Amino acid sequence: MTHLILTGFSGTGKSAVGRQVAHRLGWPFLDTDDEVVRRTGKPIAAIFAQEGEPRFRELERQALRDACAGAPKVIATGGGALVDPSNRDLMLRTGVVVCLEARPETIHRRLLGQPPVGESPEARPLLAGPDALERIRSLKAQRQPLYALAHWTVATDHLTLEEVAEEVLRGWQMVASRQEAQAGRASPEAPVLVSTTSGVYPVLVGWGLLNELGARMRDAGLTGAAFLVTDETVVAHHGAQAQRSLEASGFAVHVFAIPAGEPSKSLQMAQRLYAWLAEHRAERRDVIVALGGGVVGDLAGYVAATYGRGMPLVQAPTSLAAMVDASIGGKVAVDLPVGKNLVGAFHQPRLVLADIQTLTTLPPREVASGWAEAIKHGLILDADLFAFFESQADRLLRLEPEAIAQAIRWSAAIKADVVSRDERETRGLRTLLNYGHTIGHALETATVYGRFLHGEAVAVGMRGAALIGQRAGVTVDAGLLERQRALLARFGLPDSCPGVDLEAVEHAMGLDKKTAGGRIQWVLLERLGHAVVNGDVPPDLPLEVLRELAH
Ligand code: NAD
Repeated sequence: MTHLILTGFSGTGKSAVGRQVAHRLGWPFLDTDDEVVRRTGKPIAAIFAQEGEPRFRELERQALRDACAGAPKVIATGGGALVDPSNRDLMLRTGVVVCLEARPETIHRRLLGQPPVGESPEARPLLAGPDALERIRSLKAQRQPLYALAHWTVATDHLTLEEVAEEVLRGWQMVASRQEAQAGRASPEAPVLVSTTSGVYPVLVGWGLLNELGARMRDAGLTGAAFLVTDETVVAHHGAQAQRSLEASGFAVHVFAIPAGEPSKSLQMAQRLYAWLAEHRAERRDVIVALGGGVVGDLAGYVAATYGRGMPLVQAPTSLAAMVDASIGGKVAVDLPVGKNLVGAFHQPRLVLADIQTLTTLPPREVASGWAEAIKHGLILDADLFAFFESQADRLLRLEPEAIAQAIRWSAAIKADVVSRDERETRGLRTLLNYGHTIGHALETATVYGRFLHGEAVAVGMRGAALIGQRAGVTVDAGLLERQRALLARFGLPDSCPGVDLEAVEHAMGLDKKTAGGRIQWVLLERLGHAVVNGDVPPDLPLEVLRELAH
């Protein structure tokens, strides 16, 4: 269980920031001071005056204990809570503790400007008498070693409330993923956050979540009109539900359904969307909601990145491929006749909301194709996720809600972590996501996108990469090739491409005569859950493997 617990001196903004952060995460918020007031029916100053500080500390301890025992939440604690060793231990054990810092002068100014009467036990005595600043200095100095125990600290002196909330979320995400990494894997229950230069956003995964689309968008601070972009297949199944939810939260809704399929991911379609936005006088404070698979997400995202120099975007993925991959990470694009995704941008969404109930209407072949990307995340970065797929395959194939939610959340967490650490693909980490894609993309191109779904082509490509890894001596785990093959087969994914035009595939990969000599950077597996980029594959090996796959 990982709560987000705020500590820090009075006047550092724990309650206001806590409320903001909780809104952004879609989590409950609890302030232990408020809780004590609620339970006793008395202001804190009165408890101090009538029953003494020890009684207050006891009530505070109980409130904190109860808060930490429940479901994950954002908890703001009183300025002195951390002094109690049992509180300290509980906070550090059950949450990520973030300390809000401010200089004594700032605290003094803030407390004077907004006396927190009845809120913070120390604030009143602190402000009484002539030496208020000095008393703040000395009490703060006493507590400083304890505040230093926090997992993360945010200096609030020169930041707005929103900026502090942003920094808290960023810190929380970094610490939580570090803790997960130390524990050996990403916790399947942990909420997924993506941390980017343009802000932190949550990826929400759950059954029936589309009913909460409007409310969750409000929580994320979105207002204005909602421009819902979807496709003709998805709108028939899920459009009304999304629209109802948006309207129930007070959004004026406009809907545009594009024809389903990749050809819609074009500049022409983007232009039709621009015209539609202009016709309805869309403004930069309105929001574009992409309800559909990766095609809708990429197109609507590209339009959101460019119309009016950028509009807020919400991704509501309805295909498995979009849930575990395309909706997360901010890559948006349209295709040109000469190639896929050639015109695009980085534009991060404000929220990703994946309702797994929508998968019940997704054709089984599309479901299988989506699993390929999710399994890939396990292969390249998380052996435990791969093992989860092996042990839970039957439940996943039956689309059991709990199992699917766990698999998607886990897989999305891996993509979110990669994006958070290498947003613009400049550090080599995001490159690992291309496992299976060198051959996969070439197969799609060579077959003019008519024979394989993306995940199917990637599955064949992963088989090819696994063979190359083994024969090039990069893969040290002898059983890996077979484990990968068996799992992909279990999910109904192909492992070969018989009869494919080999020359066309070689050409698409740049392996033909014209580009011979150019080295491909292969993503290969050293062992399960650990991928590497390798530019030293013997030149003939990929050709040999391709021939085998096409046999
Ligand atoms: P898609 O959007 O074409 O959806 C596949 C099909 O499923 C479509 O016919 C669609 O109408 C239908 N569909 C979607 N959800 C449905 C539902 N709940 N019920 C019934 N039918 C449903 O394809 P995709 O596989 O979701 O995404 C592929 C696209 O995503 C490609 O254009 C690819 O380039 C892009 N992509 C982008 C990224 C990224 O990082 N931006 C990553 C991977 C893929």
